[in-house]
Amino acid sequence: MNNLNFIFDRNADFLHLIDNLSGWSKFVKINDKNQYLEVSSINQKDEKMLKIYAMAREKLKWPNEIALFKWASDGFTLDAFEKNIEKDIDKQSLYDDLKGVIDYFKVKDELVEFARKRYDGVLANKELVLEESKSIKIGLEKSMKIIEVFGENNINMSLPIYIFSGHGRSFGGGANGNGIYIKVDIEPASRDLIKARMVVAVHELIHKMLNVRNKVSSYRDIMSNDIKEKIDEALNEKMIKDKTELGIMEEIIVYTLAEVYQGKKDINKTIKRYEESQKRDDLIRIWRGIKILKPLFDRFMAGEITKEEFVKSFLSKYFEKVYKSK
Ligand SMILES: [Zn+2]
Repeated sequence: MNNLNFIFDRNADFLHLIDNLSGWSKFVKINDKNQYLEVSSINQKDEKMLKIYAMAREKLKWPNEIALFKWASDGFTLDAFEKNIEKDIDKQSLYDDLKGVIDYFKVKDELVEFARKRYDGVLANKELVLEESKSIKIGLEKSMKIIEVFGENNINMSLPIYIFSGHGRSFGGGANGNGIYIKVDIEPASRDLIKARMVVAVHELIHKMLNVRNKVSSYRDIMSNDIKEKIDEALNEKMIKDKTELGIMEEIIVYTLAEVYQGKKDINKTIKRYEESQKRDDLIRIWRGIKILKPLFDRFMAGEITKEEFVKSFLSKYFEKVYKSK
């Protein structure tokens, strides 16, 4: 594996912030907005501009997320917009809307100051991030045996990894488009904290390497008839972000490799936490699935079962115990 392509860029971080403030999708997290509201407010004109942004952004959907960050790091030019955005759509008018909103907020002092301070904090941790990035490669290398089963084992390491401002409980990442992003601390961070952020990069990069749909369909013929039926049913579901059964399966694989193996996250505690918060049914299902399936990962990783045995028992267990569970 060659070097990872980290991108520390204030423009991209700023766009990500506006994206968050706009709340254009129900999957957008609101932690950044809440942090901003602690120090400032959003007035009526701001609100209007954020609405314009959200309407334009909605047309580009999730797969253009990384493309928008590239547009930002290339300086928000029309050229960069046309080059990066993949969509058969009137790009000029979308560009005008999005750029107009960016320009508006670029001269809004409180917001610019807020973003500047946060990114200064990120840059203060940059050295540590670069040092700890070796744990990403180690995590991916350890995961290869499983990744080969459910995806392609060649990762394009030149994929951009955008580094954004993270705060409070907002340390997720994303893999929507040709690259990923992760969030790192805006406060001076310990080595252990930064290491924990790197687990998110492992998580998102593994998403990029998997092709669960293709692989499950290629294993269909070695399965028993009742499992075959369920596989066919799952393959016919439409792929919508994390909502389909195969999406749940993919998250189980990714969380096991990244958060559990690499991040040493406690499975029982995590299940309990999500059950108590009663907010994320998908996460409860994913973590219950991890509990059911991890013993199989362990045995395959330890060389106790062959690839075919692993695939058969994994798919049987998944479709018997996790598929469409509540
Ligand atoms: Zn994920």
